[in-house]
Amino acid sequence: MKRSVNKTILNVKPYVPGKPIEEVKRELGLRKVIKLASNENPYTPSAKVLKAIEKAALDLNRYPDGDCYYLRQELSKRLGVGPRQFIFGNGSDELIVFAIRAFVDKEDEVIIAKPSFLIYEIASQIAGAKIKAVPLKGFRYDLDGMKAAVTDRTKVVFLGNPDNPSGQYFTRADIEGFMKGLSKDILVFIDEAYFEYVDAKDYVDSIALLKKYSNMIVTRTFSKMYGLAGLRIGYGIASEEVVDYMNRVREPFNVNSLAQAAALACLKDQAHYRKVARDVKKQRDVIYQGVRKLGLEVQESCTNFILIDVKTNASSVTKKLLQKGIIVRDMSFWGLDRYIRVSIGTEKENRQLLSTLEEVL
Ligand SMILES: *Cc1c(COP(=O)(O)O)cnc(C)c1O
Repeated sequence: MKRSVNKTILNVKPYVPGKPIEEVKRELGLRKVIKLASNENPYTPSAKVLKAIEKAALDLNRYPDGDCYYLRQELSKRLGVGPRQFIFGNGSDELIVFAIRAFVDKEDEVIIAKPSFLIYEIASQIAGAKIKAVPLKGFRYDLDGMKAAVTDRTKVVFLGNPDNPSGQYFTRADIEGFMKGLSKDILVFIDEAYFEYVDAKDYVDSIALLKKYSNMIVTRTFSKMYGLAGLRIGYGIASEEVVDYMNRVREPFNVNSLAQAAALACLKDQAHYRKVARDVKKQRDVIYQGVRKLGLEVQESCTNFILIDVKTNASSVTKKLLQKGIIVRDMSFWGLDRYIRVSIGTEKENRQLLSTLEEVL
């Protein structure tokens, strides 16, 4: 078969997700497994959201609404952005893929930070793009370095805000400084998967900036704070022109009906989700303290995940934690040999993490 394979994908390494709980249970014969590896919300969806899913399930014999009408209207109202400025994806991952499909030809350049979210790189590789990866500086994006990497062939720049895995955010001055003098033909992709967790006063209001910059897209997801990772739904906000191009590469029924109903219900259950976010942030402090007590260092983050410097080989620590039923991310793969990335879990899960970490070190 190799002869007929699309040449551009020969060197693509498939994304390796955090191991699913059931798989670890099966493989290691464990009864109880805690997953802190994929920045998921540790709580189940709210009762109102579950009810909305149940109701929508009665129509599963029908195709979903390809236009996500109700969700589009609701977000338009809440965010004060025109309804045609939204595009929906099967997770916000899919919006990354759409952006690349719509704007990047073979040999074009895509600029990313290193390390950053792997899908930016994988989607670009599949398209045959040249990837320019600019190293983080002190766990922050080197925006000057990324701008200096821009050439006539640059088509898309990915900015995680907040970033994964470093958990840092951009201010308005950061983004405006980057946009200043940048060609209007370069799409600046601002990935706000963790937007709902950020409470820093100087966090950029990127939606306000969309009025000024027509070559920008802001994406968000229901997978993280809203806890719908299993249903796959995210959205992008951009100029109608950018949305129009991205819609051309979208499959007609890319967002399923349960996801649409659940997302709408999440938006209407803000009080519940605000509390979830507060709990997670409170637990983040507990982990900071616990980890420091063990003599380790943490990279403080404005999200629901943190990087921990385990001061020894991260792969071996990750393996030992796994043997004891705790799944975390080994950051060696990203070139951070002494770091693990840990998502904030429930109070009980975090306590378990800290005591097991102490044991294995
Ligand atoms: C989790 C994550 C996403 C998207 O997840 P979806 O489930 O596809 O919406 C996007 N960007 C970053 C940086 C993430 O960590």
